[in-house]
Amino acid sequence: MTRQKLRHTLLLFSLLLFPITIWYFSPYLIIQAASEHIMNGSFIVFSLMLILSMFLGRAWCGFLCPAGGLQECALRCNDRPAKQGWRNNIKYVIWVLWIIGIIVTFILGKNGVTIDPFFMTDHGISVASIYNYVIYYGVILLLILPALFHGRRAACHYICWMAPFMVIGSTIGRVLHIPQLHIESSCEKCVSCKKCNQVCPMGLDVTSMVKAGKNSRCTECTLCGACVDHCPKRALKYSWKWSK
Ligand code: SF4
Ligand code: SF4
Repeated sequence: MTRQKLRHTLLLFSLLLFPITIWYFSPYLIIQAASEHIMNGSFIVFSLMLILSMFLGRAWCGFLCPAGGLQECALRCNDRPAKQGWRNNIKYVIWVLWIIGIIVTFILGKNGVTIDPFFMTDHGISVASIYNYVIYYGVILLLILPALFHGRRAACHYICWMAPFMVIGSTIGRVLHIPQLHIESSCEKCVSCKKCNQVCPMGLDVTSMVKAGKNSRCTECTLCGACVDHCPKRALKYSWKWSK
């Protein structure tokens, strides 16, 4: 369980740093920066998410995301798996409209292209005034309310604007057979005890994926390793090599 303790510790620290880092994940500031042809902090962070996920899948979501840490705190209040299916597609609709907005704003923008990772921060710190705290707690509510009402990491499933970058990146990596961190399963070893379902912070039906041999292709899996660490039959493992 050492890995899960380390993971929870990393998520907690990431959450504590969120007032400093929040602007680097901002879906709004990237549009404001685009209007001035500035590549800001969130542009750089989202680009890195896309590229690194070709090798690391959605490990960012499982180990480092402050929004993930926030929602895992909410597990104490609502531990039900969030309903999925069509709801998981909401985030892709939001993402496409948002990306179109960024592109259109950039095309209509002025000035030469510049890079400013600290755009709209105060010496690199995001929340540096009372006014910014209003926005900060608005974002906190936006992320935590779905988890409180719908269950495990519902904001990741339904509305996260960052997840599609990593889904796209990891899918490209898988299609190109780039060595990528993912979960492999062994149907033969599985005894259907469903411990993996109980511990999955994303509320996924891991057992059914094991039976269907689909763990490595699940785009909602954040590679947290809870299923790997709790499986009594060692039917799940991390892998870099694609077996199929
Ligand atoms: S915990 Fe392991 S043995 Fe139990 S259902 Fe999941 S994969 Fe199968
Ligand atoms: S399937 Fe396993 S690795 Fe993926 S999110 Fe669920 S518990 Fe974590």
